Amino acid sequence: MAMNEKIDWSNLSFSYMKTDYNVRCTFRDGKWGEIEVCSDESISLHMAASCLHYGQEIFEGQKAFRGKDGKVRLFRIEENAKRMQNSAKGIKMEPIPTELFVEMAKKVVELNARFIPPYGSGSSLYLRPLEIGITPRVGVNPADEYMFIIFVTPVGPYFKEGFKPTKVAIYREFDRAAPLGTGKWKVGGNYACGMGATAKAKANGFSAALFLDPKEKKYLDECGPANFFAIKDGVYITPKSESILPSITNMSLQQLAEDMGLKVERRPIPVEELDEVQEAAECGTAAVATPIGEIYDEGMNKTYKISKDGNPGPVTTELYNRLRGIQLGELPDTHNWTMVIENV
Ligand SMILES: *Cc1c(COP(=O)(O)O)cnc(C)c1O
Repeated sequence: MAMNEKIDWSNLSFSYMKTDYNVRCTFRDGKWGEIEVCSDESISLHMAASCLHYGQEIFEGQKAFRGKDGKVRLFRIEENAKRMQNSAKGIKMEPIPTELFVEMAKKVVELNARFIPPYGSGSSLYLRPLEIGITPRVGVNPADEYMFIIFVTPVGPYFKEGFKPTKVAIYREFDRAAPLGTGKWKVGGNYACGMGATAKAKANGFSAALFLDPKEKKYLDECGPANFFAIKDGVYITPKSESILPSITNMSLQQLAEDMGLKVERRPIPVEELDEVQEAAECGTAAVATPIGEIYDEGMNKTYKISKDGNPGPVTTELYNRLRGIQLGELPDTHNWTMVIENV
């Protein structure tokens, strides 16, 4: 993106656009090194690096928002740092200290300030932190050396239809994560497992696949890149499961639901209970809270019609507005969730 080119901020998709800089840090000889600022988009990697063969790769997702007051905010960034440490421990990688994670996140946003979409555009600057094992390995052992990178790219809404009910599908032949138990870590390999289902869903006109618990295929787990919640008789229900990723968005929406006076239940949700819910949605940093209008269960050859009139439900709409309002500095940040980045 040359300096004089103009970005059409309101029509961005959720895809990669080259920005000016990324930040990197390498763990070697038992310690993290200096933060490097880099304008190269590629990395030089040994062909036997452990990330390539044995999947020692973890990542995160976060957004920086230009607010109504002109300030730039990150949302619950320490939670991303904490989760990445859990993912690292899960597959025997080196955890990144929270201070390093946050410092690099702030720095990469400051360095790419001209790519932060303006307030009102509906777009934001997406941060993609990733960590890879880089030690050459042929035997199955964790690496000794790790590279941590954060790059950014301006993005529009994840679903180009915007805030409208989408359709998702359940396919029992797929799992979203490798073995039972890895689903709670943000590991790239889990996504590889889920790609078959997502590709099938898209080929059949659905926006996403909705995965069931891998053990019994009886309870709802989550969508490919997003958690699931539903509204049933004024209660916010969301799956309690060992095989879903602990979404920071979901955690925040549960708090906002309580603020609104709703009861929150985290429990196993049998598929058939979809007959009794008034609203359903997928939630995550990318999806925010995207309403689900229809759920097709292929195995049972049944379609659950959640949205009767084709519009988002009132509770999902209110939750969406409250979350966006806090992220954009339109509403008071009563839970202290945002961090303002100075100098941008
Ligand atoms: C990242 C992710 C989510 C959403 O988490 P947020 O913290 O809300 O962005 C949900 N499910 C999976 C599988 C994910 O990887």
